[in-house]
Amino acid sequence: MKVLLVEDEAGLILTLTDRLEAEGFAVKSAADGESGLNLALSENFDLIILDVMLPRKNGYDVCRDLRQKSINTPILMLTAKGETIDKVLGLKLGADDYLTKPFEVIELLARLEALLRRSPKTLNNSPDIFNFGDVEIDFKRAEVAKRSKTVELSAMEFKLLQFLIENRGAVHSRNQLLDEVWGYDAMPSTRTVDVHIAWLRQKLEDNPKYPQYIQTVHGFGYKFNS
Ligand code: CA
Repeated sequence: MKVLLVEDEAGLILTLTDRLEAEGFAVKSAADGESGLNLALSENFDLIILDVMLPRKNGYDVCRDLRQKSINTPILMLTAKGETIDKVLGLKLGADDYLTKPFEVIELLARLEALLRRSPKTLNNSPDIFNFGDVEIDFKRAEVAKRSKTVELSAMEFKLLQFLIENRGAVHSRNQLLDEVWGYDAMPSTRTVDVHIAWLRQKLEDNPKYPQYIQTVHGFGYKFNS
């Protein structure tokens, strides 16, 4: 995960870089709006943390320019206390979230995680095409094929599969999957998750009784193993 930090307070750059790197992010920083914009245009980042008050070009202008150039990387804006109206402006210009200074780093990390979750395209270098065994998934077209034959998946099955693959290796409880895939508003039971998992295995695994990829972690839930 590559993060671009555009911030002119040296102390904050230092603290945030340290903490983000400790969390496994690769961090690059720019101390003014113009070099931040140039960096964002010349390299791919998974996330951009963008201060509003910056020398040379303010955060709003940077945000607007990035979106105009079709850079859709999630942007978290940092605003100073009391800039309520400015927050709205930031969101209008294409920022995804904002955080008011001063903030706890733990809160920043939570926001970043949420942004990454909402932006599956940038997760875990998730490619447009993903292969496992003799299955090929085209995320852009939402098409799945096994041994080059099209496999029909329901929208929910596809969403569930996509979530598991994007977060491959991690174990997810049934409740977590309900929240992440079905959403908070839907109220299906955890049994729904089991049923969809069973369908996916039936369609994709060589031996659904002994799944190689969509695995059960007893007492916890499910994970995708590739
Ligand atoms: Ca500033």
